[in-house]
This record gives sequence, structure tokens and C-alpha cells, in this order.
Amino acid sequence: MGQGLEILDRAELAPTSGYLGGKWRAGDARFAVKNPATGETLAEVADLGASDTEAAVSAATEAWHSWSRLTAKERSVLMRRWAGLILQHQEDLARIMTLENGKVLAEARLETALSAAYIEWGAEEGRRIYGDVIPSHRPDARLLVFRQSIGPVGVITPWNFPSAMLTRKAAAILGSGCSLVAKPAAETPLSALALAVLADEAGIPAGVFNIVPSKRAGEVGKVLTEDARIRAFSFTGSTAVGKELMRQCASTVKKTAMELGGNAPLLVFDDADLETAITGTMQSKFRNGGQTCICPNRIFVQDKIYDSYISGLAEQAAQIKVGNGLTEGMQQGPLINQAAVEKVLRQVENAKSLGGEILCGGDQGTLGGCFHMPTVIANANTKMEFACEETFGPVAPVVRFATEAEGVAMANDTEFGLAAYAFTQDLARAFRVSETLESGMVSLNAGVMTTEVAPFGGYKESGLGREGSHQGMDEFTETKYVQFAGL
Ligand code: NAP
Repeated sequence: MGQGLEILDRAELAPTSGYLGGKWRAGDARFAVKNPATGETLAEVADLGASDTEAAVSAATEAWHSWSRLTAKERSVLMRRWAGLILQHQEDLARIMTLENGKVLAEARLETALSAAYIEWGAEEGRRIYGDVIPSHRPDARLLVFRQSIGPVGVITPWNFPSAMLTRKAAAILGSGCSLVAKPAAETPLSALALAVLADEAGIPAGVFNIVPSKRAGEVGKVLTEDARIRAFSFTGSTAVGKELMRQCASTVKKTAMELGGNAPLLVFDDADLETAITGTMQSKFRNGGQTCICPNRIFVQDKIYDSYISGLAEQAAQIKVGNGLTEGMQQGPLINQAAVEKVLRQVENAKSLGGEILCGGDQGTLGGCFHMPTVIANANTKMEFACEETFGPVAPVVRFATEAEGVAMANDTEFGLAAYAFTQDLARAFRVSETLESGMVSLNAGVMTTEVAPFGGYKESGLGREGSHQGMDEFTETKYVQFAGL
């Protein structure tokens, strides 16, 4: 098997131009997209700038007028066709994702299926954007509340889920009758462009779904946040960048939907089922090499179960097969780039210097490059860097705690509040803890919780708004109250 885009069954799923107003735009400049597993250049992609973004906004604005006037069912039919094509080309889309992001094929296939599920969900929910009829405050009037599509939406997405982060937004945006202009992460524009090919083939009208690949994030971001024609802005990425983009959105009082950073706690109580807790930790911590916003970053384990939990966890983590994600059977690929590896190495060294004991991994192993071995750190404590900074790598620092109150207090001691996990078989404790944890999502006794049917989003500095579920549609609709008087 080769290492580049030549392995695709359909080469046309990997265009290298931007997709604006239903046409492909090559632009004047290019940037390299690399395979993090090999360091090789996969493609030279169009590096579009401010004027291209403005053109995309014009196309999205024009398309919005007609797209929003279709019936919800007409939009739904086209979106379902798109979802069907995503599933039909699941293997090629997974290969593209593995090549540009590094994640193993098995995970890339799952992400592709989830992407189709998001689009299908948006198609369905778009048909259920109901309004209200309010009992009137005066006898001669009737009060109606309509929900209308907000308009063209600016979108910026990260590299860690190059397809799912875009489709989760596109599902709600297109489903509610809006159009979008999206800038994918510079590391992973190919998955977004492949989705554009399939949107086109599905018959999504020109200008409804626009992709602006760029290495000039600030320049493109400025248009998407400050152009008055863009009525809402939806971002997934780091909290620091999200804050800056919110400031920029203030200039036109844009509605913002922000899916930002996390620093998820995972609590294991003495009464937990040991095997369930270890399996759940393995699934949540090491997925995508630890590069998910909902990865447990801080693991808190109660005294009595601590030793058996950590030895079981280290034993399983040491068995994870690490290598090129294209090789069937691999369970963990490389990290996204060298900077990501350096951050993980720094946090591990910091933990060691503060008394952490490496039970497995702790370095790059023999693979080098962008790889880092799955790592479990015993005797971790909350003075270590991971306590206040996302690791975004395959490192599980395990902190000991004594009482429930102490464990929950440590879990909540962060400015983030995206996801939290708890393992306990005590029903009363499960309720108490789930209500006390300050995060938008709590998973009890399971390591995987992402689904299109549930609201995804965070408390505190982890963001604003929700994606998925019926709540996700709210971000892209305006509420209009109409009084019919003189009746
Ligand atoms: P990032 O550095 O914030 O980048 C995210 C996106 O923002 C990329 O497309 C990036 O473009 C763009 N960007 C960066 N600086 C910008 C600027 N000044 N103006 C406009 N756009 C700008 O985050 P990341 O490292 O890619 O992603 C990891 C972060 O995302 C983590 O914090 C993770 O927790 C978070 N995340 C959150 C969720 C969620 O649902 N809450 C989901 C996934 C990830 P370039 O690629 O060109 O730099």
C-alpha cells in the first residue's frame, strides 16, 4: 500500500482548490499538507485570502435567499442524499483523514459514519423547527412566534476531527436553512474539500456550502467575524483563539457558537466496577492519540481502588499498537505535528520533576517523528502542568483522592467545563456527582458519549451554545414574534 492520495479509489475526492459558489478556485498561492505519520507532503492546497473569503460570503449570501425559501423537506432530501454519499465513500474519506490527520483507519471510518449521521440528523431536525402560538394578552390579537434561519454563517474548524467538526455544524446550519463559509484547519483541509465534492454531487445548491482553505487564518477569520453579511459565527478550537474571535464578532454583534478547549476530569470511586472503569478510561483517554477536546486530562482515583486501577490501566496502555494509521490493526497513530509532541514531552518531564512515576511510555519510543507512546503516570498531583493545561496527547496522569467531596472539588478546579466522567456503582453518588460536576457533558460508567442525538458543548471557558440534538438548531435560528391585531 502506498502512502499518499494515490491509494484512493476515486482520485477526484481529493481536490486541492477551494470551493466557492459551487466552483473550484485555485487561488494564487499554495500551502503543503503533510502526512504526520511520514512527514511527507500529501498535497499542495490553495491558500486563499481575504478577497476569496469575501467572494465566498457573497456566494453564501445569494444562496441563502433561495436555500432558506425551499421547504424543509426539499432541503432534507438533498442533505440525506449528501449523507448517503458520505457513507458510500466511507473508505476513501477515512483514508484521506488518516493521511492528513494521522488517526488510525478504524477511527477514521467511525468519524466518517458519524459525519453522515450528523448530516442526516440535521436533515431530520430541520423539519421540526417549530414556532409557538401564545395565548394573547388582548382579545383582538393573536400572537405567533416564528423561528427563521439566521443567514449566512462563518465557520472555523480544528484538525482533530476534520470531518465531524465540520459536518456537526453544517448539519444544523443547512438544516435550519442557512448557508455557510468554512475555513478548515490548515493541517487538514482535504477532508473538508472531499465533503464539498460530495455536497456538489448530492445537489446541494451552489453557494450553500463553501470551503476556503487557507494558511492565513487571521486574514480569513477577520472576514468571517467582521463582515456584516455573516449573521452568525460558529467556531471549534482553542479557548485562546475563540476569545479573540468573539472580540472580533462584537464589532457586528454576531451571534456566536463556541466549542472551545477542555480539561476533562475522570473520577473513579472506590465502589466502581474496576473493569468498566479501566475500559472506559482506555476508550476516552487514548482515542485519537489523546487529541480530543473531551479526553480525560486529569484522572482522579479514590484511595482503595487506586493501586488495582492504575496497574490495570498501565498494563492495557502498554499494549496499544502504535504506528502508521494506514496499517490495519494499529490503535494509535502519530500526533498532529512536532509542536504537539514537544508539548506532551514537556508535560511528562514536568510531571516527573514533581514526583510523577512513569508506569508505561513516557517518551517517543523507537518511532520518533510525531509519535508519542501511550503513557500512564502514577503519583500525579494537581501542581503538575496538565492540571491547568490541555495535554492533547496520550498521557494519563492519575491523582489519588480520599473523599467524594475532595475528588469533585479537584475535578471542578479548572476554568474549563466541557466533559467529565465518573465511575461508580452507587446510584445516589452517581446522581450527586453528575449534578455537582461543572461541565456541559457528564458520562457515568462509560468512556464514549459523543452522538448526534445529544447536545455537545461546554460550561465556563469551554464555550457557548450546543451542537447536535435539537438544541443545536437553536444557534442558527432567529426568533420572530408577530402580533396580528385588529382581528
Ligand atoms: P486552534 O489553534 O484554536 O485552531 C482552530 C482553528 O482556528 C483552525 O482552523 C485554525 O487555523 C484557526 N485559527 C487559529 N488562529 C486563528 C485566528 N487568529 N483567526 C482565525 N482563525 C484562527 O485549535 P487547534 O489546535 O486546531 O484545535 C485544538 C483545540 O480545539 C483544543 O483546545 C480542543 O479542545 C479544541 N476542540 C474543541 C472541541 C469542542 O467541541 N469543544 C472539539 C474539538 C477541538 P489554522 O489551522 O490555519 O491555524
